[in-house]
Amino acid sequence: MINRGYYGEFGGAFIPEVLFSTIEELVEAFQDARNDPTFWKDYADIMSTFSCRPTPLTFAENLTRNFGGTRIYIKREDLNHTGAHKLNNVMGQGLLVKRMGKSRVIAETGAGQHGVATATMAARFGFRCTIYMGEVDVARQRPNVFWMERLGAEVIPVKDGTRILKDAINEALRDWITNMDDTHYVLGTACGPHPFPEMVSYFQSIIGKEAREQIFEREGKLPARVYACVGGGSNALGIFSGFLDDPVELVGVEAGGEGLETGRHASRLASDDGSVGVAQGYKTYFLQDRDGQMKETHSVAAGLDYVGVSPILASHRERGRIRFEAATDSEVLDAMSLTIRKEGLIPALESAHAFARAFKEAPDLSGDDIILINQSGRGDKDIFTIADAFADPGWQEFIRKKGYEYGA
Ligand SMILES: *Cc1c(COP(=O)(O)O)cnc(C)c1O
Repeated sequence: MINRGYYGEFGGAFIPEVLFSTIEELVEAFQDARNDPTFWKDYADIMSTFSCRPTPLTFAENLTRNFGGTRIYIKREDLNHTGAHKLNNVMGQGLLVKRMGKSRVIAETGAGQHGVATATMAARFGFRCTIYMGEVDVARQRPNVFWMERLGAEVIPVKDGTRILKDAINEALRDWITNMDDTHYVLGTACGPHPFPEMVSYFQSIIGKEAREQIFEREGKLPARVYACVGGGSNALGIFSGFLDDPVELVGVEAGGEGLETGRHASRLASDDGSVGVAQGYKTYFLQDRDGQMKETHSVAAGLDYVGVSPILASHRERGRIRFEAATDSEVLDAMSLTIRKEGLIPALESAHAFARAFKEAPDLSGDDIILINQSGRGDKDIFTIADAFADPGWQEFIRKKGYEYGA
């Protein structure tokens, strides 16, 4: 097992020996499912009847005009049930749990989106469900905790450490080790030990498969560039997978926070602050100090606020296949405001990172070119963060310097 799940030098499975057998069981169930021609059909079927797939591609006519004619298309992952691409992964893992004959799922959650998605899947499949969440996050995310509980999940506030996401991950791992026989750990992104990066990106590849077909059908050609935001990396790998073998430029956009030069960001691949290390079961670029202590990250978008990144993306960066950029909080709020006003779409703050970078680069392309942006989720959840941000003097100064109003 030790030599599997590597992407260049990244990935692997750095796990305690007690977990070997349950990880092996998962590897086998996943291989078996992948080789079973009915499995993907069942998966696509449940995603179409339960989660609005295929999600549409929206032509952003007003933004296209605004940025000089490069044709801008948006893949609408926000239309998935529970409001983001997360359900693609969670429902796929749910089908695997059924195949393995297990009856209980556990997950960690920070902002609560992955917890709600997992609790939704557990209700649909009839699994018992426990969600670990840092005590600080429980207090910050009352509505999500409310829905997880209504969906039948037990939400356990974690009181250890700094009482946030990483402490919840440790607690979920402890649970898994104790209850491996009937329990599956539903990891939320393309990180962690093998086979999670491979498995999560396999399920998310449904985004890229659909998007490639849809853009070809509409335009008779492929986009020049595809943009996606990068937290753990699952929505980016999902849409990029449709274009990896094509002459299409792929751009992953990380959280630039208050600016790369301030050190207050979550940019592991686009900044020089990331370094290779092993933590949380896998090897990748982390934001860590010289002693391997994880640094504090910062982003206006909770879903991008993470110290590690998918080993698959790390390897694509190393080979130069995917370009990585960062968008700052101010650029993101700007792009979000513009998208709301011009198109009547409300992207999540995470997704707005992809929009911000795409808008910056759109004027460089010609009117024959196509840009595709992944709208990974909807922004309704961000209402209070955005309201606060707009009241901030820093933001008002930013807009004053730019010299425009969105209504104009
Ligand atoms: C969780 C989340 C992300 C970040 O996760 P990835 O694994 O990087 O895709 C991005 N966008 C939205 C809307 C999310 O909820």
